[in-house]
Order: sequence, then C-alpha cells, then structure tokens
Amino acid sequence: MADFFPGKRYTRSMRILVVEDEKRIADFVSRGLESAGYAVDVAPDGATAIDLQHATEYDLVVLDLGLPDMDGLAALKKIRNRKVSPPILILSARDSVDDRVKGLEGGADDYLVKPFAFVELLARVRVLLRRGQPTPERLQVGNLTLDCIRRKVTRAGEHVELAPKEFSILEYLMRNRGRPLSRTMIVEHVWDMDYDGLTNIVDVYIRHLRSKIDDPSPEKMIQTVRGIGYMLDMPEAVTGSGS
Ligand code: CA
Repeated sequence: MADFFPGKRYTRSMRILVVEDEKRIADFVSRGLESAGYAVDVAPDGATAIDLQHATEYDLVVLDLGLPDMDGLAALKKIRNRKVSPPILILSARDSVDDRVKGLEGGADDYLVKPFAFVELLARVRVLLRRGQPTPERLQVGNLTLDCIRRKVTRAGEHVELAPKEFSILEYLMRNRGRPLSRTMIVEHVWDMDYDGLTNIVDVYIRHLRSKIDDPSPEKMIQTVRGIGYMLDMPEAVTGSGS
C-alpha cells in the first residue's frame, strides 16, 4: 500500500504511468512519485504503455519522447485517441522549441526538458493532477479574494490595484493554493511562452505583488519555496506543512 502524506486532500492514491526506457530515470521518477504518495506503474516502451493504459485508468501519464519501439509523439497520439485520456507530461532531451511545440500540439499538457530537478517534476505533476476540477469564478484564501470575471482583488475588504501580469500571477498562485510553483511554470503560464533564462522576471513581479498584497497585512501569504519558486497559502498552513 502506498503511504500517504498527512494533510493530503485525496483519499485514493492518484495513479501515474511513467513511460521511460532509461531505467535510471524511470527509477528516479517512480521512486520520487511513490514517496510523494502516488501509485506508479512504469512502462519501458510505447507498446507496454498503450497496453497498460487500456487496462488501467491513469490520472496522469509522464511520457518520454525517445522510446525504443516508437516515437513518443506517436505514443502520445494513441493515448490521446482514447475517449477518456489523462493529462500528459512529456519528458524529453529534445529541447528545441520545435519539439516542444509539436508535443503540445500533439495533445501534451506540459513539457519538461531533461535533465530536470525532481522538485520541478513534482510541482508540475501536482498542478496537472488538479486540472479538470471545476474552476471557481471567485477565489478566496483567508481575507484575500480574487474575482476572476471582474478581475478584482481585495485584501481584508480593501480593493488592491494590480497590473495585468501581477493579477495573472496571483490568480495562478491562488488556483494552486498550497502547491509550490516553479519560476519556469509561472513564466510559461503567465507569459504563455518560453522565457528561458529570464525567470528572474518572476522575482520582480512577486516583489511587486508582495508589496501590494502582503506588506499591509500581518499575515504573509506569498511564500518562497527554496529550490522551487513560490507558493500561496495561509501562513499557518505553510509552517504546518513541514516540507
Ligand atoms: Ca528515452
């Protein structure tokens, strides 16, 4: 049986299929995901992946593009052709923009270039797994509220004036409350493009956001997560998480 981390919001293990022929990477990824509380199956090639996917309902597929028996993009198409298909996170050593675009056009939901840090993979997995849940029109964390339709933010009932990018970052953080988001994820989400090497632009925007959202309040919600990026939550929830 899988171990659960305390405080996890689900009762059933989310099941993840890892498609990767390189044993070292497959082990590293599957062990990491298992210790984060997920149930993991590993497929060493595309054919096995498609068989497993027919037999089991997965919540997420982590897919290497360089497979021994078929191109990962072909495997991606086969997985996507099914009626109910899980979100797909592509892993690839191919870091050209062209491959990234092809992967995303082929129906992948996210793309991570090798080599990667496990924390970055885990952050992306967590965000993908919560997709598909209904998205509320109004987000609330403590006394911070964000109206997604009217694009209005209040803290303790006071209106907070935000620039469009600041609003988008705050919305992304609030939608993923309690989940660390890497700088790269924030850049890709908010600017909708690949800003390689310019991720420190996120730090600048976070500084602006903190001065508007957190500075006037004793409760600081925007947290720096070392080695990853940022996370938004109530301060007591953050200190209580122990991770
Ligand atoms: Ca490979």
